[in-house]
Amino acid sequence: MYTINEHYLKLQGSYLFSTIAKKVSEYQKEHPQAEVIRLGIGDVTQPLVPAIIEALHNAVEEMGTTEGFHGYGPEQGYEFLRECIAREDYQNRGCPISAEEIFISDGAKQDVGNIQEIFGLGNRVAVCDPVYPVYVDTNVMAGRTGEFNVRTGGYEGLIYLKCLEENGFSPRLPGEKPDLIYLCFPNNPTGMAITRTALQEWVDYANQNGSVILYDAAYEAYITEEGIPHSIYECEGARRCAIEFHSFSKNAGFTGLRLGYTVIPRELSCNGVSLHELWNRRHGTKYNGAPYLVQRAGEAVYSSEGKAQLKEQVAYYMENARLIREGLKAAGFTVYGGVNAPYIWLKVPERMSSWEFFDDLLKKAQVVGTPGVGFGQGGEGFFRLTAFGTRENTLKALERIKRFY
Ligand code: PLP
Repeated sequence: MYTINEHYLKLQGSYLFSTIAKKVSEYQKEHPQAEVIRLGIGDVTQPLVPAIIEALHNAVEEMGTTEGFHGYGPEQGYEFLRECIAREDYQNRGCPISAEEIFISDGAKQDVGNIQEIFGLGNRVAVCDPVYPVYVDTNVMAGRTGEFNVRTGGYEGLIYLKCLEENGFSPRLPGEKPDLIYLCFPNNPTGMAITRTALQEWVDYANQNGSVILYDAAYEAYITEEGIPHSIYECEGARRCAIEFHSFSKNAGFTGLRLGYTVIPRELSCNGVSLHELWNRRHGTKYNGAPYLVQRAGEAVYSSEGKAQLKEQVAYYMENARLIREGLKAAGFTVYGGVNAPYIWLKVPERMSSWEFFDDLLKKAQVVGTPGVGFGQGGEGFFRLTAFGTRENTLKALERIKRFY
């Protein structure tokens, strides 16, 4: 008789967004006339910009010709895209990353989920709390944690780095020494950024302790303030201790097209074994490359027209963020985030839990958000709203919230 990977059985039952979807669908069944506004899931709503559409059209035409047809591409991604990324996202910002250190993929989720495969099972893992659940669940599946502890609301063996109001949602260096440290800034779900000085402390800590930082920069394009790092490689010594993940989903609207990349510098090694080579081996074995069409669309993100059009698109979402932040403040809420990220992290009214506020908001205002506790125990008492809605829906949702709270 075969057996299964029993670590999967430790995973906590229902996934956050399916619970939300179920609650919303039950509400809609009981109130068929209600117009529910969703400011919960982090998907974008604006169409692809013209420069990207044009690149897609051109690539489609090309693929229909004998000379322009592309079959399997290089597993690491086409050089035309890796060169653009190295120049625009790194070298122009003073970060010494070369095209050869970049791996193209079809999104950041699989990369941040799969990266743990190249590390030993005995490694101790640190994650922020609250946290983007993929970092936790993939380590649970691999068997790097113990059981879920209902009392603490966390998995045994994981090191939770609390991101709370008291520490400005910026995690403190832990006393216990983790081997793998997942950091995500600007942060999902809190919407808070990390300063260059604070990130440098993490890089120094990792280099001193022989840890590796897995840095998720999926929301880098939303940074508006000075002094906030766009990449961990802006910190000295990061090439020796950090892997960085990027997504095209939120800066360019690729949630449906699918494109991302991972940077593994050549210096990064463990007892003389190059992590770049290990990931290269894994990538080449389990992945056949992102579609040519989508990589051409990715290239257009870095053209001058693409950059100008996407700047406007990001500004559109950030104006939503500003409206939500200011609107909620005027309604008396304490709010965080929304300045360097498309997420607003609001404190729920006293004596309510995150889920109670979810139910209350749905019932009174027909607005859907995400309960903070869904991202970990550290998120209890908070609630996430996203700026990815349309302007019309964002304004309508705010009006209703102001009316009822
Ligand atoms: N990392 C973070 C922190 C995210 O919030 C998301 C998506 O919401 C991703 C990665 C996934 O990005 P992608 O769409 O490129 O898979």
